[in-house]
Amino acid sequence: MSEIFKGNFTQQEPIPEDAIEAAMSVLKSGRLHRYNVAEGELSQAALLEQEFAAAMGAKFALAVSSGGYAIATALRAVGVQPGDRVLTNAFTLAPVPGAIASLGAEPVFVEVTEALTIDLEDLAAKISQDADIKVLLLSHMRGHICDMDRLMQICDAAGVIVVEDCAHTMGARWDGTLSGRHGAMAAYSTQTYKHLNSGEGGVLISDDPDLMARAIMLSGSYMLYERHLAGPPADAFEKVKYVTPNISGRMDNLRAAILRPQLAQLDGQCAAWNARYAEVERGLENTPGLTVITRPDAEAYVMSSFQFLLLDWSDADVNKVLARCGARGVELKWFGGAEPTGFTSRYDSWRYADTPDMPKTNRILRGVLDLRLPLTFSVEDCAQIARIIRDEVSMVYQAAE
Ligand SMILES: *Cc1c(COP(=O)(O)O)cnc(C)c1O
Repeated sequence: MSEIFKGNFTQQEPIPEDAIEAAMSVLKSGRLHRYNVAEGELSQAALLEQEFAAAMGAKFALAVSSGGYAIATALRAVGVQPGDRVLTNAFTLAPVPGAIASLGAEPVFVEVTEALTIDLEDLAAKISQDADIKVLLLSHMRGHICDMDRLMQICDAAGVIVVEDCAHTMGARWDGTLSGRHGAMAAYSTQTYKHLNSGEGGVLISDDPDLMARAIMLSGSYMLYERHLAGPPADAFEKVKYVTPNISGRMDNLRAAILRPQLAQLDGQCAAWNARYAEVERGLENTPGLTVITRPDAEAYVMSSFQFLLLDWSDADVNKVLARCGARGVELKWFGGAEPTGFTSRYDSWRYADTPDMPKTNRILRGVLDLRLPLTFSVEDCAQIARIIRDEVSMVYQAAE
């Protein structure tokens, strides 16, 4: 009898009790809008921004309505104009190229490596081929961090501004520096499947007062920017307040109230995710035909999902693995499927961008499989998941030989 996994890959933990209490008190107050405060009151949104900036070691933070909105706002703040070409990862999630397209700008995709990170050689080549490129929107897709020192060298040398998409790296580090602290601005998501859960939401950080003043104006601050506890001083707004359009995307106090207690628990949650990741990694090591992603020593990751590669397998055999694991309760996502199912993460699904074929990326995407590791799974659950994947991959691999 082969074992069957019974867990649910899309079931997150409940919202903690103290967060529910904080939410109830916002609801009872009726003051859900971030600028609606009682005499002497500090809003939940402003307090969240202050705490988030402190947690990430940034000078400024802005809470907004989604991760995708945070990214688009960062691109606007750094000055991306309609028609501009913006570099980004060929392997990321749809809101990333979508944010570029929302400004009328054009994504230029950079290849992905076997480590699932942006290909720095291709990045350097694309920058040197196109002197008009001024911005890289770097996505730390699925929590994999590239050599950030090298990346910043390449971009700084060419005067390319880096905006970081940290949807999967909240609390992660490269060589001791928190993810999101290398670029000019960094965007986080607090959507249900990320590291903090407010249903929808996002946060933007920066140390640059001018960029943050613009971002706060863009988010729709109704000239109430002095109520921000993690914003730049009032003089930073003087230059921008009449010339920056309001593109409303504020976070409300209800979401902020839910997030603050979760943020206080972030380190513990990250350790719990990594324990689950390590268990799956241990269980899959040395499986014939299967490549576990090697993580560099400089990378301190936070992994709420797991990726492995079936490199150079036929589509038919990858499909067999998907079906066999699926029959045993292990839901794998395959980025290489001919038709995207329920999500898009590959450059050729975003056909509004005119992109030549990317052979290196195609090879990786054809072989990359992904599973979520929500904290409702125990470490033992993760060991069982790894056993099932190992069995089924070995079975299909041996039959193919
Ligand atoms: C989730 C996600 C985002 C932002 O998503 P929203 O749903 O807009 O909050 C951005 N980048 C990546 C890689 C993501 O996975």
